[in-house]
Amino acid sequence: NEGLGSWPHRRARISAEDTALIHDDRHWSYGEVRERVSRLAGGLHRVGVARGTRVAYLGPNHPAFVETMFAAGQLGAVFVPLNSRLAAAELGTILRDAEPDVLVVAPDLAGTAEDALAGAPVRHRFVVGDRPAASMEALEPLIAQSSPGDAPDVPVVLDDLAMLMYTSGTTGEPKGVALTHANLTWNCFNVLIDVDVSQDEVTLVSAPLFHTAALNQTFLPTFVKGGTSVLVSAFDPDETLELIERHRISWMFGVPAMFQALAQSPKWESADLSSIRAVEAGGAPVPEDLIRTYQARGMTFMQGYGMTEAAPGVSFLRAKDSLSKVGSAGAPCFFSDVDVVDDNGCSVPEGRPGEVVVRGPNVMRGYWGKPDATAAVMSDDGWFHSGDLAERDEDGYLYIVDRVKDMFISGGENIYPAEIENALHEHAAVADCAVIGVPDERWGETGRAFVVPHHGQHLTEEEMRGFLEQRLARYKIPKSLVLVDELPRSASGKLLKKELRTD
Ligand code: AMP
Ligand code: MG
Repeated sequence: NEGLGSWPHRRARISAEDTALIHDDRHWSYGEVRERVSRLAGGLHRVGVARGTRVAYLGPNHPAFVETMFAAGQLGAVFVPLNSRLAAAELGTILRDAEPDVLVVAPDLAGTAEDALAGAPVRHRFVVGDRPAASMEALEPLIAQSSPGDAPDVPVVLDDLAMLMYTSGTTGEPKGVALTHANLTWNCFNVLIDVDVSQDEVTLVSAPLFHTAALNQTFLPTFVKGGTSVLVSAFDPDETLELIERHRISWMFGVPAMFQALAQSPKWESADLSSIRAVEAGGAPVPEDLIRTYQARGMTFMQGYGMTEAAPGVSFLRAKDSLSKVGSAGAPCFFSDVDVVDDNGCSVPEGRPGEVVVRGPNVMRGYWGKPDATAAVMSDDGWFHSGDLAERDEDGYLYIVDRVKDMFISGGENIYPAEIENALHEHAAVADCAVIGVPDERWGETGRAFVVPHHGQHLTEEEMRGFLEQRLARYKIPKSLVLVDELPRSASGKLLKKELRTD
């Protein structure tokens, strides 16, 4: 087995006694992870999980996430981490697309899962143990009734599919980013080179593992090196500062909104942050004053730029550049080739904006079951079109300046206006609508909806919220609503969102 599923075995061969995971003050060594993963693989095999089967996980950062992922990998199955912030209707759409045979779900999400599963055939459902207790009760019988040798020896190669990570798109339809074991392995190389992850690393994993940054950018590289990952179920700023002190955290990743919240905590001034050698932000534009706040506390502030489709590393601002290139999203990752191009795919000169394109062994195979959507973003010679606009300086460092895709980012979560607009159109009072992102102190951006009501009809913010809550994750619901007589459109009828942004 060349894939992810072999990693617990490979790691335990080298450092079985070392601590792999900490969660709620319980520790798991690499040897224990290996043992539990092999047993779980045996149990999953017994319920029919095989090569190519999808195995989904809906829950918090928890050892059960890690064990499910590795056990699936050992069997050549495909792991599908689900965003636990989504509404049941959205999860249902994803489950019907991914068609997993197994869904591992946390108890507080069992109700949501139940609603999501209506019409989505999933053969087996296992509910993991209560938070904060770190047991996995429903997986436990699968583990207990197996012994480490029970799982078949599945010949997994690097080009096999490892994972489907769902993102939304400009059509509002969710797409499964199909990542191979090679994608994840090469991205790990990128991180090990850029971040210099060490075997003594103590990594705080408090961003959600169902997103590419926490999983592929921090957890997996820490695991490969034999460091310790502290898994945190839900991010809380005060608690994070305590965890940094208690576990002597040396490295953490966060989206800008998380770092902002930490710096605004009443505990920030007095917290002992001396164990941290570097922090890394990414997933959304990083304000410069935020970087300076951390540098003023003596921390190295690194920045990663990437996307789920690149597993995710595209460029990186390394420690050595963190002062001289503040504000830049860095230089290309070691194995990622990056270009900035015009509409014809030709490189633009330095200092001029163009679309970021990326090619390399970390770039996805495609969108699951969506060849047209794949062809729309991937050129014949393998360049993935990011939909982000950047300029390059004389040293080739990227500065992300804008986006060409209709998307905004709120608290690190990507929001595609098309999804919200589609939902709003279902409301009887809505004749026309548009959603944009507007700057927000706390979240980076938040949504604003512009609605043209049908003649004689009305819509309030409260009504809109109640209506959208049935259909969309809370973080996607616009914070404000503006009623207008008409939307700005070009002569050909194309919506001019730029004009909405100017007030
Ligand atoms: P995701 O697939 O959720 O990782 O989202 C990827 C998108 O997040 C990118 O295409 C960018 O628009 C945005 N993004 C990620 N990292 C950065 C960064 N360091 N600076 C600006 N935007 C970023
Ligand atoms: Mg993101």
